[in-house]
Amino acid sequence: MANKENFAAAALPSVERLVGSDALLPFCEAFGRPFVTDAAREIIARARTRLLAGDDIGSQALVAQVGAHIETLMSPSLVPLFNLTGTVLHTNLGRAPLPPEAVAAMAAVAVAPANLEYDLSAGKRGERDDHVESWLCRLTGAEAALVVNNNAAAVLLLLNSLALRKNVAVSRGELVEIGGAFRLPDIMARAGCKLVEIGTTNRTHGRDFTAALEDGARLILKVHPSNYHVEGFTAEVETAELAALAQAAGQPLAVDLGSGSLIDLARFGLPSEPTVAETLKAGADLVTFSGDKLLGGPQAGIIVGKRELIQRIRRNPMKRALRLDKITLAALAAVLRLYANPERLAQRLPTLRLLTRSEQDIRALAERLQPHLAEHLKGVAEVAVMACMSQIGSGALPVESLPSVALAITSLANKRQQGGTLKRLAAAFRALPQPVIGRISDGVMLLDLRCLEDEDGFRAQIGRLNIDGL
Ligand SMILES: *Cc1c(COP(=O)(O)O)cnc(C)c1O
Repeated sequence: MANKENFAAAALPSVERLVGSDALLPFCEAFGRPFVTDAAREIIARARTRLLAGDDIGSQALVAQVGAHIETLMSPSLVPLFNLTGTVLHTNLGRAPLPPEAVAAMAAVAVAPANLEYDLSAGKRGERDDHVESWLCRLTGAEAALVVNNNAAAVLLLLNSLALRKNVAVSRGELVEIGGAFRLPDIMARAGCKLVEIGTTNRTHGRDFTAALEDGARLILKVHPSNYHVEGFTAEVETAELAALAQAAGQPLAVDLGSGSLIDLARFGLPSEPTVAETLKAGADLVTFSGDKLLGGPQAGIIVGKRELIQRIRRNPMKRALRLDKITLAALAAVLRLYANPERLAQRLPTLRLLTRSEQDIRALAERLQPHLAEHLKGVAEVAVMACMSQIGSGALPVESLPSVALAITSLANKRQQGGTLKRLAAAFRALPQPVIGRISDGVMLLDLRCLEDEDGFRAQIGRLNIDGL
């Protein structure tokens, strides 16, 4: 073994020699010699393992590998991509795309100091949430509002501020787990609250809550069951009834809407959800919702409601740990301003534009792209235009889906190899400079075109799709 290792080391060039090679000179100039030396060391270490395994590696190949390694290290790992999964608000793919107004607002405050916590008219310290609070109140009818990093943080902060070491009543039918490890009972425990489970999984009644309030519950939390739906013999207590019970007991009612739309989606022909304003009007004292779900803005968590309660939440030191940065605040404010004119929202707000896109429009796009993709995949796969269903995603209206159109790719390989070919094809789409993410269902790879707006950009990617060895 020792002999073999010596042989392997002797067969490799020294790190110094590798770094000194002409081909790596431009890298040394661009990124500095110490960085290139580190990269060369990593490549030599890998080569040593491979030499021991019996591979033959020339020093030219090593130089090329160092170059490729540096290029990988220097390219961003977080990149834009084409979300053709059919899930419009895809949490793993970064949810809502932002409108240009928001992007411009972010860029403007990113490169310069800003009046983040500075009151320009008074010339003294201000509140960072002031940049969005009045708009949130205007759009929801709330007395006050505050914003934090995301809706999970909003729920955590609300619970910790209003019910630390106190009982919180939640229906058993609403003890949800939302993707990414947001489990209501866990959040409740971390917020320092005692969860009082009310009713049963399928049926919960007003009298169950009354009993919990008599037993000392200090907050009722109603949670939108975002990603599932209970059917059959069910009963839930509506917000208005819960509000009356809570008020009679002198305790607050908070509603976690999750997606929380600011406007009635029915006006755009979409299935309707209770809006934030309606929920407040029905008597909720506080409502929490996300900035990057149906609202269509940046990642944020929003709490709106009674001034006195919002003030108690604002005074919690945890607010400081969960606050938003100036860039997100700028984006959120810009998106909220678009809501001033709901008539134009479906054109100007990307999330709503994608959700309301007509099947006809998507089909026309599919028909334009089909020949192009079919030509590129000739001999490997067939491409058809196929009706499919998109979904809103992020827990909004889990059972509703939107008619859409996809490019459906089927492998030409024999039956036994088809699955493998599709997997490799999906990997080739993911390996593009601007990756394309679709979904595989029933032996077909679907590229749902609802969320494809940059047609030329997509065509360019198809041209670069590497189908060798499929
Ligand atoms: C999505 C969701 C959350 C978590 O919101 P994030 O913005 O992802 O942190 C909390 N509650 C409900 C009901 C949700 O749907």
